[in-house]
Amino acid sequence: MSTVKKIAELVRAGAVLTSYMCPACGSVLVKLKTGELYCANCERPVILAKSEEEAQQAVEIAQLRDVRRAVFNKILQLGQEIEKLNADELMDNLKSMSLLLDIYERLSKFETPESQARKRPNTT
Ligand SMILES: [Zn+2]
Repeated sequence: MSTVKKIAELVRAGAVLTSYMCPACGSVLVKLKTGELYCANCERPVILAKSEEEAQQAVEIAQLRDVRRAVFNKILQLGQEIEKLNADELMDNLKSMSLLLDIYERLSKFETPESQARKRPNTT
């Protein structure tokens, strides 16, 4: 069975796809219902070192920030189109904007406390 199929089967059984990579083979890891990370390619549980996990999280937050910026740009773009639209198009446009704003708001919650702490002036 291919790794993708194995992953799909695990997900169907209640596992969650993560963006963590297996340190051994580079496959995407799934999180089992037990909370364990598992590599479907190596067919074994994977334990990430704390620092690895934190590094990975920092990468994810940076990626999410990129997505958030893209969402923001799209909202602006849709906003600029409003004037030119007829009633039907306007409804679609507003629905899209509403969805995008939802996503934007949710993505905003991924800002870490550290990223705010870093803005503090250095007192040493
Ligand atoms: Zn692996």
